[in-house]
Formats: sequence, C-alpha cells, structure tokens
Amino acid sequence: MMPSRLLAGHPAAPGIAVGGAWRRPEQDRATHVVAAADRQAEHRRAQTALELAGTELNELADRLPADEGEIVRAGVLMAGDPALLATVEEAVMVRGAPASAAILEASDAYADAIARLGDEMLAARADDVRSLGRRAAAHATAAPDRAEGPADEPVILIADDLGPADVAELPSTVLGVALLGSAPTAHAAIVARSLGLPLVTGIGPELLDVIDGTPVALDGDAGSLVVEPEPELARTMAEEMRARQRATARDDAERELPARTRDGHDVTVLVNVAGSAEVAVGLRAGAEGIGLLRTELGFMEARAWPTEAEHLAMLEPILAALGPHPATVRVLDFGADKAPPFLRGTSLRGITLLLGEPAAFAAQLRAILRAARGRDVRILLPLVDDPAQLLATRELLVECARELGDAGSPPLGAMVETPRAAAAASALAAVADFLSIGTNDLTAATLGADRFSGAAARTYDPRVLAHIAASVAGAHAAGRRIEVCGEAASDPMLVPLLVGFGVDELSAGAARVGVVRRWVRRLSHDQVRRLGSEALTMRGAEQVESLVEPVARELRSVDVDDALGEDLDGGGRLLAFGT
Ligand code: PEP
Ligand code: MG
Repeated sequence: MMPSRLLAGHPAAPGIAVGGAWRRPEQDRATHVVAAADRQAEHRRAQTALELAGTELNELADRLPADEGEIVRAGVLMAGDPALLATVEEAVMVRGAPASAAILEASDAYADAIARLGDEMLAARADDVRSLGRRAAAHATAAPDRAEGPADEPVILIADDLGPADVAELPSTVLGVALLGSAPTAHAAIVARSLGLPLVTGIGPELLDVIDGTPVALDGDAGSLVVEPEPELARTMAEEMRARQRATARDDAERELPARTRDGHDVTVLVNVAGSAEVAVGLRAGAEGIGLLRTELGFMEARAWPTEAEHLAMLEPILAALGPHPATVRVLDFGADKAPPFLRGTSLRGITLLLGEPAAFAAQLRAILRAARGRDVRILLPLVDDPAQLLATRELLVECARELGDAGSPPLGAMVETPRAAAAASALAAVADFLSIGTNDLTAATLGADRFSGAAARTYDPRVLAHIAASVAGAHAAGRRIEVCGEAASDPMLVPLLVGFGVDELSAGAARVGVVRRWVRRLSHDQVRRLGSEALTMRGAEQVESLVEPVARELRSVDVDDALGEDLDGGGRLLAFGT
C-alpha cells in the first residue's frame, strides 16, 4: 500500500468527509471544422444550448434558499451576455468551430479575462463562467455533464474548479469536494458552506495524481486532503464525519425552535465569527445574527494599519453571507497575542491602541459605516474600561458619518473585559447602546491568570461571577441589553448561570450554536435565577462547581445524546436540580 500523503489547500467549507476519490468524466472537446453551409444551424445550436443552461440555472435557483439562489441566478445573466454570445458567434461562423467547442472556448476566455483583473471578488466569478460554459457545452453535444456518482458509494469529488450550480446539483453520494484551484471566496464555496458540504480549494496540481477510487479523507476545517489515510486516521475521521452529520441533522430539525427556557424566557443566541464560513454554519444552526465579528483576525499578517478599502473587502462578504440578520462588528482588537508584525512590541491593546491612532481607527469606522448601509449593524469596542473611550469613539464615528453624508450611525457598544470595566458598568451603560462581556479576558484579568497558559479558565469563580452579575445589573438599570461573547457563552457550567443572571444574548462559536440553543430550551429560568443568586454567595470556585455540576452534567448529556444519535424526549426529564 502507498504511504498516506497530505495535500494542503485552503479551508473553504467546514466538515469532514471520508470516501473514495471520484472525478467526473471529462468533456471531449470536438475539434472538427463545421462546413460553411452548416454554420448557421451550428450557431443556432450554440445559442439554444446557452439558453437551456440559463433556464436550468433559473430552475435550480428557484429550488435554493434566497441568497444561494441569487448567486446561481447570476449565471443566467452570463448565459445571455452579449460579449460571450459575440465570441461564440465568431468562433462558429468565421472559424467553423463546433457549438460545444465554441462555447467552452468563449467561456474560458471570458473567465481568464475576469481572473486577470486582480480583484478577488471578480476572480470568484471566473469559476462561475467556466461552469456555465461546461453546462451549455454539454447541452450542445447532448452529453449530460452531470454524471451520477458511483451508485451508493460515498465519494469525494476531485475537480479543477466548480461553479455554484454544480455544487448545488451534486449527487447525494458526494460527501465532500477537493479542488485544484478556486478560493474560499468563490461562489462555489459560498454554496458549499450553506449546504454543509465540506470543501477544500487551491490544492494545486498534485491533486491530479489522485486516481479514481483511491481512499481519501477531506478536512474542510483544516483545508487538507489525506490520500490513502492510515486505517486508524480513516476510522477516526469517519466517526467524526458521522457525529457531525448527526449534529447537523439535529440542528436543521431544531433551527425553527426558539431559544426559550421551559418557562418562557427568551435568550438571543448569536454566532462568533471571523469569516463567512462560520456565518453559514451558525445561521444553519439557528443563530439570530453575529454577536462578535473579530475583525482583527483578518489582519494578523498585516504590515501596516489596514486601509478603508481593505476593511471593506473583509466586511462585505461576511455581511453579505449574513443577509438580513444583525451583525455586531468589533473594531480591531490588536495587541497582546493578537499583534500583527507592524505592532510587535507594543504594550497597548484594544480601544486604547485604536484611539491613539485616530486615522487608522477612522478608516475602519468609515468602512463599517459604508458596509452597514441598509443593514442591521452595531459596533463593539474591545477592552473598554472608561466611559471617556466610548465618548471619544462616538465623536469620531459621528464625524466619519458626516464625512460620508450618512444621516445617523450604528449603535455603539462596549466590551466589559476587565474588573475596572465591570465596576464602571453603570457608567459605561449610560453612554453605550449595549454592553458585551468578554469572559475570556475578564476571567484572566480577575483571577490574575495567564489566559494563554492552557490552564482551564474558571469563569465560575465567584469573583468573576460577581463582575458578570454587576455588569448585567448596570446594563439593565440603564435599559441596555447585554451579551456574553466569550467562551463562557457555550460552556455548560456557565450557561445556566449567565441565563440566571439575566444575560440577554449569548454569542458562541459556530459549531456550538445549535447545542447552546438546545441547552437554553432545557433550562428553567426560575430555577437558574435562584442558582445564579446562590452561586454569588459561594466562597470559592470549588463550591460553585459542586453547586452547578449537576446542571452542567444534564446539559452535557444533550451533547452525548447527539453523539449517540438518540432521539430526545422533549425535555420533561431534565433539570430537576435543587431549588
Ligand atoms: C473575550 O475576551 O472574552 C472576548 C470575547 O474577546 P477575545 O476572545 O477576542 O479577546
Ligand atoms: Mg477579549
């Protein structure tokens, strides 16, 4: 047996897929020259093929969710593009190219021209044009391009590139896709993410060496393809794939259920993201919007402060993937472990660092204002500990809005991530439109622990809990909503306490959104309120642990049930803990 090989690409849609490699049969390019007398008919055949491809895409778009439908529908416009039609006509009528070859040639040339423009978003369109060309060429030769996968065999499709419609139409036996080219920003990737189909792009020509039927394991999270994986790796990845398939099926089934406690208290569950892949996964699991967009993660290799255009290019695809749902955009939280090369050595962090660089800060605020037009966006400031920082930011924001000619500006919120901020929660809430607790930093700062030491964060330490409860009280006294967007928002030890303290919104990593919503449905608000009050009277973390552990265990059992793929009984048996 060949040793296992790891091919690296880019993570474009998360998920794991294990199966045999499968290539779709290549289309033969007809090379004969059409006789002059037959060219008129051949040209009509090419036109009809393009029209048919357009109609097909329209029908497919109707069957997809609205956003993905719009992406596929763009192909319909391309099918009727006058420049494309003129090139096809020239190829058939002047050079006697057969209809299918003329279409493939014209669409390739069109795609190459777009790809050369050097604009990442436009380059993503190039794959769409090629895919439309393949579809229409198949009609021109009457040879169906979309061959079925091997019957009942799970496969990983291996291809050069794919268009969004190709992805939407893959047979159900295709569990994942590995592409030689393309990019995570391509439309194929957007559709793959929304369908939950793992996708790795940009693997490069080595992918061509993988022959049909070879066992492969695709990791859409890491962006890699293992060819001929060791049996142990294949087994673990197959188990992971099945566990995720069950979790997704359950999230899908429960997406419409509200995140409401058994006694009718609603909690807004949002998703933490750094890119659009997580948006799709979060929304699919029922997230009501983005609770934390960590904008700095897009610029960790930056050599200078990002420009307005760079900010906008990062924001647009994420907000587009979000559709009408609300987004909480946090401004750059550079510093400490998140210092790009040009900031190495600085001791400043978060909002303090930004306010010291007003031109760079204004560039990001202007980009957010522009991206926010017609959308539901709020702006969040990291590591605030003084109301003056909010006031200074608001002044800058209003100035930027005026420059852009905008009538108003989005709501502005402060993160509570230090004991000082928690102590000032009422004063912060008085000048903010909302608050958000960053429990990761708050825990480390309160306990004097190193957040990056690898030791478990004890956010349930009563000293941290007191800061959280005080922040909630401060926000509510000022009539402001408060969210938690640190890891605590998806920790079974903390979720009951946070809901008990009256936190309005929980923002969790994309893969945790479904389970957090499920946990909320298992809780009784009345009971967790009492649990929260009692936790605040405890002397140490161990005591809180003993108090909350029975509840956390019940919640964890929801996860275990996921792994076993069992059907739950609707919640009647849960959370009969001490009152
Ligand atoms: C936090 O500190 O809890 C938080 C959400 O911010 P980050 O993890 O990005 O520092
Ligand atoms: Mg933080």
